[in-house]
Amino acid sequence: MKEPVIIIGGGPAGIMTAHCLKEFGVKSVVLEKGKLGQSWREMRSGMVMLSPADASHDMTSLSFENPIWKAVPLNGPFATREEFIRYMEVFSKDSRIKLREKCTVKKICKEDDRFEVVTADGNKLEAKQGCCCRYRCDRPSLPA
Ligand SMILES: Cc1cc2nc3c(=O)[nH]c(=O)nc-3n(C[C@H](O)[C@H](O)[C@H](O)COP(=O)(O)OP(=O)(O)OC[C@H]3O[C@@H](n4cnc5c(N)ncnc54)[C@H](O)[C@@H]3O)c2cc1C
Repeated sequence: MKEPVIIIGGGPAGIMTAHCLKEFGVKSVVLEKGKLGQSWREMRSGMVMLSPADASHDMTSLSFENPIWKAVPLNGPFATREEFIRYMEVFSKDSRIKLREKCTVKKICKEDDRFEVVTADGNKLEAKQGCCCRYRCDRPSLPA
């Protein structure tokens, strides 16, 4: 498979990158090892976000055009984990983001003018550009 841009990680950063590229007419595919917004799905249920999400103090939405408070009914000024996951689902559907779930990236190589991405199931994907949107604190570790 060949895409102009491969984005690794289907969290807020990956979705937003795909959305912004689309606005510039650039096609991309997002590869996600779990489901869309997997990091958030792994947080405890009922957790409340730290940034406000209501119309008057919105520091949570992924775009001005499709803000969380228009996309999802919110129970308070701070979105819950469940509301934010729902928002990511609505946002990526509305933005028609091409997403491959259950697709773990194992290796990335740079070959001349292109990137080659190898997934856990042995598939190889090629792209002109690669973008890594893996939040770096997704594995617990002890401080050095
Ligand atoms: C308790 C808590 C509260 C927070 N509250 C807020 C808040 O109120 N507002 C706010 O803006 N931020 C908040 N954050 C921060 C928030 O988690 C991050 O800002 C956001 O999720 C980071 O987005 P991201 O896309 O960079 O990373 P992630 O959401 O972690 O996305 C990375 C994705 O990459 C995938 N991935 C990883 N490795 C691979 C691989 N090899 N192949 C394919 N896919 C892979 C993961 O499954 C994951 O879905 C909070 C965080 C925590 C822990």
